[in-house]
Amino acid sequence: MAGESHRRILEACKMKIGELFGFDSVQLTVLVDNEIYLEGLRSTWGLSVYVEVERNGLKRKVLMDTSGSYDTLIYNSSKLGIDLSAVDAVFISHWHGDHCGCLKDVLEVLKPETPVYVPSSNRSEVKAIGEVGGKAIICSKAKRFFEGFLSTGCLGRWTKEHSLLIKLVNSEFILITGCAHPGVINIVKRSRNLIENFKLKAVIGGFHISSRREGLIVGNFMKENNVETVSPCHCTGTDAKSAIAEVLGANYSRCGSGKSFQFKSK
Ligand SMILES: [Zn+2]
Ligand SMILES: [Zn+2]
Repeated sequence: MAGESHRRILEACKMKIGELFGFDSVQLTVLVDNEIYLEGLRSTWGLSVYVEVERNGLKRKVLMDTSGSYDTLIYNSSKLGIDLSAVDAVFISHWHGDHCGCLKDVLEVLKPETPVYVPSSNRSEVKAIGEVGGKAIICSKAKRFFEGFLSTGCLGRWTKEHSLLIKLVNSEFILITGCAHPGVINIVKRSRNLIENFKLKAVIGGFHISSRREGLIVGNFMKENNVETVSPCHCTGTDAKSAIAEVLGANYSRCGSGKSFQFKSK
């Protein structure tokens, strides 16, 4: 009855949407991706997204993944005028080097005790976070933080990964995936299980698919769910991206280092 106990765990952590306040505006900037969006920036195999949110004048800054290249991260951030030392929290999707390889270098420039939301208890990594002054917070189950951020909780049998949900005041959600090893459709389904009346506005990140066939499946799933902005990047292959773009038309958004997204609560 593994399925039944899993269902009960999900029911137990199901959250009422009112418990997360949400933000008036959400600004995402892709600091590092495999491709370049803005001329003059650099690319490398990896992902890092800078998230800045605002609610009633209060701003929060979260770094989702660091990529594996500190040089690329710092170079692109400074070109974009983003001060990484002001980051309030770091969210690490999973323990692969292309997502957390330069985490220790990043933590060196952040405030002491900066929370680092991680998917699972990788003992050596968690210890290393503490050694450079960060504070690891393990999200094996869904976890809320600040006024409107939510970890989906850990998914995946082999590669443990969690994804980041951000709520707008109007109850729409933005989902950022790292590599989506557990499958981007499964991640959306988990999100729906966690949140009542789940409304997905945007999905951005690695989708971990390569073929046209997979792209069509994901594209159609996003279409059926009326997702307004879908921006696959990082570990999403060219054929898969083209298929998603074909299905979604104007709802598809090309990604890359320097791409930014602005979402406002209507
Ligand atoms: Zn990756
Ligand atoms: Zn990965």
